[in-house]
Amino acid sequence: MEPLIITVAPTGNVPTKAMTPHVPITPLEIATDIAACWQAGAAVAHIHARDAAGQPTADPVYFAAISRLLEEKKCTIVQQLSTGARGGRTPAERAAVLELRPRSASLATGSSNFPHSGNINEPAMIDSLAQTMLRQQIKPEIEVFDAAMLHNAVRLQAAGLLKPPLLFNFVLGVKGSLPATPKNLFFLYESLPPDAVWSVSVVGPQHVPLSAMAMALGGHVRVGVEDNVYYEKGKLATNVALVERMVTLAAAMGRPLANRDDVFRLWGIA
Ligand code: MG
Repeated sequence: MEPLIITVAPTGNVPTKAMTPHVPITPLEIATDIAACWQAGAAVAHIHARDAAGQPTADPVYFAAISRLLEEKKCTIVQQLSTGARGGRTPAERAAVLELRPRSASLATGSSNFPHSGNINEPAMIDSLAQTMLRQQIKPEIEVFDAAMLHNAVRLQAAGLLKPPLLFNFVLGVKGSLPATPKNLFFLYESLPPDAVWSVSVVGPQHVPLSAMAMALGGHVRVGVEDNVYYEKGKLATNVALVERMVTLAAAMGRPLANRDDVFRLWGIA
């Protein structure tokens, strides 16, 4: 089986310091935490940024600061920047981080609901983000909150807007979207186009068993405080502890860990 890519999603848009002291918010906190997770075995960082007030932002200034700090720390983790709907509202805001030419960026290929807002990605917005990523050789990670998004990505590939192998992340357990069940994960897995590369990220305690299921199926995993504030009932998570648990699980299952070169090979990028 191919080496396991562990992606760490340290911050997201939702967790606050009031919810957990372990969420990194400033560029320095984020870069320091990512570097520690990289040391622990993570190969990819899914990065969101916050402004000086701690609010989600799509301003490239903050993302650039995180990247610069990672470079200073000689951390060569593969950086994936979020173009998610909560960081920026207009198409221009959503696309702004792509100017930084990261190796990868997230791309939601449809709309769904977050617990208190819409995850709205209209066709023109999706096409425009996909086109920019294609032009700038940024590998899109397709964020699948619902099966329709998977099928829409296949359509976008047929239209020449996405290049194979398609890279998917199944996001399960978000209130208002697909529940985190083995059946739903298996359904998405069975719906994948040939040669797809995929991971699962789960909100809630099911993230541990469903990560094991993904590992057994040859998929990859994403963990982090973005998705889970709790490590287990009553115990707050740290990003490093969440990564370390996946490392332990992978070792028990005999799955080696992917490094940077493995990520590029698996994603089909140079
Ligand atoms: Mg995200």
